[in-house]
Amino acid sequence: MRYMVGIDLGGTNIVAGLVNEQYELVLKVKQPTEVTKGSDYVLSKMAAMVDELLEQANISRQDLIAVGVGCPGILDPIQGIAIFAANLKWDNIEVSRILGEKVGVPVFIDNDVRMYVYGEAMSGAGKGAEVVHGVTIGTGLAAATVVNGELYYGSKFMAGELGHVTIEGEHTPCGCGLKGCLETVVSATGIARQAREALEAGRESVLREVYEAGELTAAHVSQAYDEGDALAQEILHYTGKVLGKGLAYSITLYSPDVVVIGGGSALAGDRILNTTHETLKKMVYSGYMNNVTIKIGELIDDGGVIGSAAFAKSRVEKLEAVSQS
Ligand SMILES: [Zn+2]
Repeated sequence: MRYMVGIDLGGTNIVAGLVNEQYELVLKVKQPTEVTKGSDYVLSKMAAMVDELLEQANISRQDLIAVGVGCPGILDPIQGIAIFAANLKWDNIEVSRILGEKVGVPVFIDNDVRMYVYGEAMSGAGKGAEVVHGVTIGTGLAAATVVNGELYYGSKFMAGELGHVTIEGEHTPCGCGLKGCLETVVSATGIARQAREALEAGRESVLREVYEAGELTAAHVSQAYDEGDALAQEILHYTGKVLGKGLAYSITLYSPDVVVIGGGSALAGDRILNTTHETLKKMVYSGYMNNVTIKIGELIDDGGVIGSAAFAKSRVEKLEAVSQS
């Protein structure tokens, strides 16, 4: 049996998992990233986590074929370089080369959203489908597309920034420099912002108490929705509608078999997605809608790790195929 290690590298934590060739997660470990100690320290810690997984699972190093790392920020997946990652304070770090030297197997990197969607496509909600389009709704919103087991990159590896198309009637400044981007509405941050602004404008809601305590989050809005709160329902219905406006273009352009919704706010499920479906029905030709299934991700917590491992396996297999031909 051959194994891969998938690593989900975040600004707060590093999660590493040992994954077998059937994409089953055998063992998982988690450590704080400790960004302030610098990239060398973080990469050494990642190498130590790989060693720890092999040791704990009693797997020989010969059976490890590759390591995949899902990194935040802008990167070059071909050269294996993290070009810029604001939350890691990384600037042109050669992740594949440096970590590869430490662990002794090829290391492949890609961004965290692509790794997650790749995981869902290979072994989660999109398993067996030809074209899988995935969207993660977390702090922001991003998308990725897998076609017959291959990620679609677009020019300069930039495909997928669906969170940064602007939405008519929205004006909130976005980190990208535009105003009224889709992710200013459809994200955990966007949901909390909508609630905050409505409360500041004097709306009645059960959310006022958590707002005044300075603790209002998207999860509170979901909870208030279930309590029948009118404002919370309005916000999540509107959020779903805006998501539908974005997905209408994705579905028409890619004609996916499956659309996977992942990320923390995907847990809001039908509270958001009911109006997404309604909007899609109005905006998208029925031929596409009859073909596509919209699903909540199956690998919410482990998708990044499984996806990174699956991605590393696919890259190794590609190199093996080249060397054999
Ligand atoms: Zn933007």
